[in-house]
Amino acid sequence: MKLLYCPQCHDMFSLSFVEKQCTCGGTYGHYEADGLQAVYSGPGIPLGIGNDSFRAAVSRQQELNLRQEIPFPGAKFEAWIVPANSSTFTGVCGEPRLKLSGVQLIIETLQQQITAYDQAADEFPGNDDAYLGLEAELDRLEKILKYIRKLKHRQDKMQAEARQERSKTRLDE
Ligand SMILES: [Zn+2]
Repeated sequence: MKLLYCPQCHDMFSLSFVEKQCTCGGTYGHYEADGLQAVYSGPGIPLGIGNDSFRAAVSRQQELNLRQEIPFPGAKFEAWIVPANSSTFTGVCGEPRLKLSGVQLIIETLQQQITAYDQAADEFPGNDDAYLGLEAELDRLEKILKYIRKLKHRQDKMQAEARQERSKTRLDE
């Protein structure tokens, strides 16, 4: 089984014949028609789960669940990072697609982080090093937030223009 992990939004998802993408839209991929070859784009990390190993673990877990021994283990199965020279799971160049929901998600996450750091910084009045470290981190996050807000603004504008273009075409027809 082939999967993708997106280091940007931390989504992990299995591939299908229909293209799938992560929440931020950065990583996407699909199986080719033969069901063996697969391609992906973006910063995603390709992963493999051993089908036989996974199936065996599912049935082993059914037994373990019945036995209820202490410790109560979870059956393990084989998973691995697909190496860059794989001939069946290959990265291809594709346009990064930042979905609107993804941008919004990043903005919200950053805002939460900033609030958390802000509060944490207030709790370290006596510890200058910790305070300065938090302030530096806060500064960095605020810069990223500013950048991503600009990006979203540009994206919103492009979408509005595309909508306008579409309604114009409809009127022309
Ligand atoms: Zn992502």
